[in-house]
This record gives sequence, structure tokens and C-alpha cells, in this order.
Amino acid sequence: MPPEPPKENLDHLAFLLQLCELELIDRERRAAQRRLKAAKFPNHKTLDTFDFTAQPSINRPLVAELARCEYIDLRENILLVGNSGTGKSHLATALGIAACGQGKRVRFWRVTELITTLMEAREERQLIRLRTQLAKQDLLILDELGYVPATKVGAELLFDVISTAYERTSVIITTNLPFENWTEVLGSERLTGATLDRITHRCHILETRGESYRLREAKRRRRGDRSQSKSDSQD
Ligand code: ADP
Ligand code: MG
Repeated sequence: MPPEPPKENLDHLAFLLQLCELELIDRERRAAQRRLKAAKFPNHKTLDTFDFTAQPSINRPLVAELARCEYIDLRENILLVGNSGTGKSHLATALGIAACGQGKRVRFWRVTELITTLMEAREERQLIRLRTQLAKQDLLILDELGYVPATKVGAELLFDVISTAYERTSVIITTNLPFENWTEVLGSERLTGATLDRITHRCHILETRGESYRLREAKRRRRGDRSQSKSDSQD
């Protein structure tokens, strides 16, 4: 809501200043919204909704530090490794949203979606354009490396993105695969070695242990229901 225009002449400068401030705040808010939209997050998961007590293997102070985004200025990477459902995508998205809030350009990709888009761009002779777009980002999030093995061409295109990002753009990768199994996805040992070499040089590794959060929640609820019905039947 714009401020009321002043009644006195004297107040005009203060009024203008206030208008400028409001305009600046509004511009920054709209820019942040644009960055969030451009990042194409699959959902809006933030650190506020991440239950750190349920995931004690995650170093909370380290995550808080990463949310301040210094690693992006240092072109460092983050690798989130752990079983399915243990909060990797949640944390990757939350860190991406935090980065958007700090003026960083972020793009979230599911790895299979990125590979498909790269292959299509290659067929349509649009690969250079896509690569330029990717190179403009401050942070690339590559979610779910390892669920589907890539074809030879797909793995090479993915490797190309990772090596172009090397020391220029930070990358967050989430994966359910331990390092020794990456060859299964990327095909050749040479490519896997080179990919790991680039990612793990200057990298924060976060391991999410334990079983799926949702599964655990469901079991807890069921246990809750059972003890509830037991106490009901005792009534
Ligand atoms: P992953 O990517 O490791 O397979 P997700 O991050 O997609 O797992 O988590 C699965 C679901 O469980 C998501 O809805 C996520 O928000 C939720 N979740 C997982 N871990 C936590 C946690 N520690 N606190 C709150 N929600 C969590
Ligand atoms: Mg995931």
C-alpha cells in the first residue's frame, strides 16, 4: 500500500524516499519470485519443515551454513547420498530455495529429465543454446542420479554438463547409489571416474541414513492407532 501523500511541503523528501524504498522492496520481492519460478522446483520444501531430529545423520549446523550459500560463491558442490525417502530431495530443494532468496540463479533437474532434454536438444541442434542456459546458472540441482541407467550418449551429455559446471557453477547431486555403483548408471569406468573426480573435488557430502521418512511416519501412525484402539477397548 503506497504511503499517504504529505500535507506539508517539508515532508516531500521523506515521502519520496519512502516511495523509493517501497519500490525497491517490491522489486526485490518480484525478482525473488521470478527466480523461484525459473528454478522449476517440483515442490516448495524448506528447511523449516525438515525434521532434523528424525534424521540425526545430517549435520544440522552444516546445513544451516550451506543455506547461507557461501559454497556457491566458492563454486563448491554438495552431494546428498542415501536411501530412497530419507530426505535428499527435500534438503536439495530447501537449499535451492534458500539460494534463490539470496539472489542466486538456480535450476532444478531430475537427472532423467535433464538427459532427455539434452538428447532432444541435440537432435534439434539446440544443444549449444541449452548448454549456454545451463552455464548461466549459479547452482544446478541434479536430483535422483542413479534411478535409471543412462544410455551411452545420455551419460556423455550428462558428463558434459558436469564438466562444464566444474569450478564455474555449483552442483547439488542427490543419489541413492554409493560411489562404487556409479558405473552402473554412467556405463564406462572412465566416465564415472572423471565425473566423480569433478564432483567430489570441493564437495560437501551429506549422508542421509535410515529408512524412508514416510514409511517411518506411517508405521508410527499405525502404532499410534493401535495403542489408541487398545485404550479405546479398555474404556
Ligand atoms: P529422497 O529424495 O531421499 O528419496 P524425499 O526428500 O523425497 O526423499 O523425502 C520423501 C518425503 O518425506 C518428502 O515428502 C519429504 O518432505 C519427507 N521427508 C523426508 N525426510 C524428512 C525429514 N527429516 N523431515 C521432514 N520431512 C521429511
Ligand atoms: Mg528424491
